[in-house]
Amino acid sequence: MSVLVDQLGRVATDLRVSVTDRCTLRCQYCMPAEGLPWMPPEEMLTDAELLRVVGIFVELGVTQVRLTGGEPLLRRSIVDLVAGIAALTPRPKIAMTTNGLALGRLAAPLKAAGLDRVNVSLDTVDRGVYETLTRRDRLADVESGLRAAAEAGLTPVKVNAVAMRGVNDDSVAEVLRWCLERGYELRFIEQMPLDAQHAWDRSALVTAAEVRERLQRRFTLTPLPGRGSAPAQRYLVDDGPGTVGVIASVTEPFCQACDRTRLTADGQVRNCLFSNRETDLRGPLRSGATDEQLAALIRGEMWRKAPGHGIGRADFHQPDRPMSAIGG
Ligand code: SF4
Repeated sequence: MSVLVDQLGRVATDLRVSVTDRCTLRCQYCMPAEGLPWMPPEEMLTDAELLRVVGIFVELGVTQVRLTGGEPLLRRSIVDLVAGIAALTPRPKIAMTTNGLALGRLAAPLKAAGLDRVNVSLDTVDRGVYETLTRRDRLADVESGLRAAAEAGLTPVKVNAVAMRGVNDDSVAEVLRWCLERGYELRFIEQMPLDAQHAWDRSALVTAAEVRERLQRRFTLTPLPGRGSAPAQRYLVDDGPGTVGVIASVTEPFCQACDRTRLTADGQVRNCLFSNRETDLRGPLRSGATDEQLAALIRGEMWRKAPGHGIGRADFHQPDRPMSAIGG
């Protein structure tokens, strides 16, 4: 079934699958306090449909599958989904991005089902700031989720942090110290214009350069070579072995080497996080399309991938679909 190439010759091998748009947190930079109108269950791909589509992506050359949300651990069948993906041939690497709240309970069964590693979202290690940012007092659950992930062998355990001006940007070095002490690989991600409120403001953005500058007040950062298509530029901290990553999606984009493609919980293919168009697979899937027909739809969507996200351009238009329904 060939590969997923786009008009610039980039080949997608990394599939991000959003398995639900629901979440247990209400992070300020993602959604309003009251949450969002969630997808009706009948619009979401069933487990069988999702596994079939992921299988087609694997036949099209995908070698890594990342499960995201919303919060993926809210999907009751998540352990079975992981097992189903692990049973595909060739077996893709399987990772997950989670807020960690349910990881304490699920880390071991997920590992046993075939999950390889996790990224846990954690923007601060201060209980009060965590509650302000997420509108939930659940920091302790994230900490025990991280421990459970490490104990289960979902390693390297990575932590994803977003710095928000005036909220947690003054404690980035503290988060790094906390992660280094526990052997977690921290990565700072620039806040992207993907919030449901469409309130993102570039002038308030804490840039990658600022994050590096603040970290360097306390640590020595040495850039590590061999980034390839990885979103994060990684640095050795204080001559190692600890490292930190910085994902500068807005100010230092890395789209020229992008190898990512996306599937939403309601069966839409997105060739880019910021795409304003999608290709529907759910309709054809439910009206009897063959694997070849579905593969052709996926290839067509990937071929149309734009050179980059276009943030900052006059014609940039923030996607209508919020981050919580696209996935990380
Ligand atoms: S913004 Fe789009 S093209 Fe750029 S790296 Fe992200 S997914 Fe790839």
